[in-house]
Amino acid sequence: MIPARSFAGKRVALFGLGGSGMATALSLREGGADVLAWDDNPDSVAKAAAEGIATGDLRTADWSGFASFVLSPGVPLTHPKPHWSVELARGAGVEIIGDVELFCRERALQAPNAPFIAITGTNGKSTTTALTAHILKAAGRDAQMGGNIGRAVMTLDPITPDRFYVVECSSYQIDLAPSINPTAGILLNLTPDHLDRHGTMQRYASIKERLVAGSETAIVGVDDSYCVQIADRLERAGHHVIRISKRLQITDGYFADGTDLMEAEHGRYSRVGFLEGIGSLRGQHNAQNALAAVAACLKVGLDLGEIQSGLEAFPGLAHRMEQVGRKDNVLFVNDSKATNADAAAPALSSFPRIYWIAGGLPKEGGIESLRGYFPRIAKAYLIGEAAPAFSVTLGEAVPYEISGTLAAAVEHAAADAAADPTSDVVVLLSPACASFDQFKNFEVRGEAFKQAVGKIEGVRSIGGKPE
Ligand code: ADP
Repeated sequence: MIPARSFAGKRVALFGLGGSGMATALSLREGGADVLAWDDNPDSVAKAAAEGIATGDLRTADWSGFASFVLSPGVPLTHPKPHWSVELARGAGVEIIGDVELFCRERALQAPNAPFIAITGTNGKSTTTALTAHILKAAGRDAQMGGNIGRAVMTLDPITPDRFYVVECSSYQIDLAPSINPTAGILLNLTPDHLDRHGTMQRYASIKERLVAGSETAIVGVDDSYCVQIADRLERAGHHVIRISKRLQITDGYFADGTDLMEAEHGRYSRVGFLEGIGSLRGQHNAQNALAAVAACLKVGLDLGEIQSGLEAFPGLAHRMEQVGRKDNVLFVNDSKATNADAAAPALSSFPRIYWIAGGLPKEGGIESLRGYFPRIAKAYLIGEAAPAFSVTLGEAVPYEISGTLAAAVEHAAADAAADPTSDVVVLLSPACASFDQFKNFEVRGEAFKQAVGKIEGVRSIGGKPE
């Protein structure tokens, strides 16, 4: 745990006692703060009290004595409307911050030069975070990974100058971290998302921009217009910006040329790495993630040999184009995280011949936007409530069956794929739907897929290792 010593002796109000909120409360207490915590859920309050954290209804607290108000990133700061605790803090003129801010202040106090890589973007955050931490660890560095990826940032090991921190930041976390100042800040991409929580695209983009604006080196993906504007603006303001592109041969920065990772310096090019043969980093979207990780690792002192070894041994993340097994020419891939058509597109674009398992609880727009990938689909196996609607969209363009259940879909797809004479085919679960009609969540759906694949005779488990 990182004790939040910069708050020693201060009175701090805290709202939101879920996983990260509880960890933050414990870190504040350990650091010597006088914390008063609350949550709208009485069970969470009881749990915190059982841990010895002082709890009390912040509606009736005396706000004039609080130095800071720490809010969980899951609680609305602005949209759809500020939470009541936010209104009270604002009314009392108390600063509103989150756990990433606590981390930044602690780093400033304990080891301001400890390498800190922060990652944000609309898509690819977790992959890039995991990949960066993996490369650092593989190179023998003490890499601490946390933030939005799962482990609350204040539960990481105490900050020392030779520890490397790799922190995934959601917009909500950035919004609550006014002094965020990573060594390398990564902004991967920006597309409209979560606007219900941010109001407008301008506001959403400006929050994301803060992470790179505060960075010693800003690494910005320039494959969408919002990020291009941000890179230009930062450069004009004198920031050190490294541009990365998954498809454009840029004159300065890093870009992908097929599976080659290239560095450009005033229009002169050299290869800095490659993704050829790395199954866990297939697809253009992963080239963007890999380029960002490469640029960040170079910034914090790794050499190209160390980085390439790390790339090659990356196991990938569960449920995101995760390779789960192989039988002869058939690869089985679990992309259960793809809960809408946009999220399924990268997987469909990454394989040339696909036995596609899709369906579940339908999302608005269905799979019409995926029509461009239909020629790659050898056959579709439709499950869940979306099956009838998807079958209408596929129509004459793609052979399909309504399999109903995931188990039946896997069995039929595996049999058809085995009979395919093509040298490389994939049975891909990339549902383009939520899971809730048949499963508790996308993780459970992904596990069910893995189990069904495991039952097929002769399948060799890949077990997360790249091929
Ligand atoms: P996040 O943490 O931002 O949600 P993940 O790394 O968990 O992102 O990836 C989620 C899904 O988003 C993946 O299954 C893939 O379909 C897609 N994806 C991953 N990286 C990118 C990227 N750089 N650009 C666009 N889509 C991506």
